[in-house]
Amino acid sequence: MRVIVVGGGVSGLTVAWALSREPGFDVTVFEASGRTGGKVHTERVEGYLCEWGVNGFLDKEPKTLEVSEALSISPVRSFDASRKRYICSGGRLHRLPESPGAFLRSGLMGITGKARLAMEPFIAKGDLEDESLADFGRRRLGREAFEKLIDPMASGIYAGDPEKLSLKSCFKRIDELEQTYGSLIKAMAALMKERKKSVSAAPKGTLTSFRGGMSEITDALYNALDGHVRLSKDVSSVERTPSGYGLCLADGSVAEADAVVLAAPAYRAAEMLSELDPEGAKAFGSIPYPPLSVVALGFRADDIGMDVDAFGFLVPFREGRKILGMLYDSSVFPNRAPEGSVLLRAMVGGARAPEVAELEEDALVETVLAELRSITGLKAEPEFAKSFLHKKAIPQYNVGHSGVIEALEAAESRHKGLYVTGNAFRGVSLNDCVASGLALAGRMRDELLDGK
Ligand SMILES: Cc1cc2nc3c(=O)[nH]c(=O)nc-3n(C[C@H](O)[C@H](O)[C@H](O)COP(=O)(O)OP(=O)(O)OC[C@H]3O[C@@H](n4cnc5c(N)ncnc54)[C@H](O)[C@@H]3O)c2cc1C
Repeated sequence: MRVIVVGGGVSGLTVAWALSREPGFDVTVFEASGRTGGKVHTERVEGYLCEWGVNGFLDKEPKTLEVSEALSISPVRSFDASRKRYICSGGRLHRLPESPGAFLRSGLMGITGKARLAMEPFIAKGDLEDESLADFGRRRLGREAFEKLIDPMASGIYAGDPEKLSLKSCFKRIDELEQTYGSLIKAMAALMKERKKSVSAAPKGTLTSFRGGMSEITDALYNALDGHVRLSKDVSSVERTPSGYGLCLADGSVAEADAVVLAAPAYRAAEMLSELDPEGAKAFGSIPYPPLSVVALGFRADDIGMDVDAFGFLVPFREGRKILGMLYDSSVFPNRAPEGSVLLRAMVGGARAPEVAELEEDALVETVLAELRSITGLKAEPEFAKSFLHKKAIPQYNVGHSGVIEALEAAESRHKGLYVTGNAFRGVSLNDCVASGLALAGRMRDELLDGK
């Protein structure tokens, strides 16, 4: 069975790799650009290891670790210091409390906000089909907790707008906890009790990467695919042929396959399917991908003059700042900066400030430095500065996203042998992409080979 996988990001590479281990499949990956990895993109510049995309994954989900082991690459866990996370509030950094006691002592929230949060167990559970993250946060936790705790989470993961993001699609677990326990505080108490009793308590998720950065995993997948990845193969459209599918490429050539997996971003899948499946194409094309810039700054450790022994900080929207957050990369993972230097990385832009992401590099660096000076008291000048713009960064799972999943399932059921996957659908995280890729390969084996 000839399968072409369109898109050589982690989603496409994982499906292709898993299929290549099954007898009966002859798999090829078509990647439009000159490199594989997609949003996994590690670059070493002037001794600094810059992650222009994915920074890491949580080790509480097993699939990425299992794939890493099968590929013989060794994960590295983040340093303990990176458990310290900060939120910028009132122009100052406040440590994100890790326990109820620390929360009560913390200056992050005022007394009224804390009192409102304490009322959470008495708030009736929601009954809406779909609800924005902001509506959910204000309803359950109160305005201040929403603005200082939930809003930065939406920036940190999605670079999104919580007024638009769907709770169910973005944070399914939180929705399930509310529905099961009627309250998040009650849910936390019940889960803690359960875990204390349990001998094999689930390990807490630790941010994980690789010594050479996240590209180690996509490079290893590429190598394992052993010549079955074609670069600079930009697919423009997908057509039906008597025996399967024809892929029309931007260079005018056509490639034929018995089955096709579209693992390109949803807006590209929409273009490819505009003739073959206009309904699916419309749904996929409706997913917004706001721009996001990543700005890497290197400093001499001796003169940085700020405490960087932490994960970094997030900035709530109400602060009116021009950065979404800052990661202290060299305090999170080893091998990120030259000896005696530190590497910081800022996220800029996203759904609520797309224009800032698109500033010229010099202006972008100055903007980030100005915010850093104002928030942290930084005085030093960087010895290294570089930025990377994702014109279309992270797919937004806005309210109504479940309709996109229905459209995907309908499109797949209309066209046997056509599959659509990637971070636009059932989870944006690398763990989600890997898990979806493995699950899809299993489904393809069952649907396409069984009975043959
Ligand atoms: C700045 C940033 C930081 C992130 N940080 C994290 C993080 O720390 N942790 C985490 O879990 N997740 C993170 N993510 C989420 C990340 O996007 C996903 O985890 C994952 O990398 C997405 O993989 P993908 O293969 O689905 O899509 P992509 O990586 O977008 O891959 C799609 C591929 O398809 C190719 N393509 C496009 N059009 C065509 C075409 N017409 N023909 C052929 N090929 C085509 C593209 O060139 C690309 O290689 C981050 C995302 C961004 C943007």
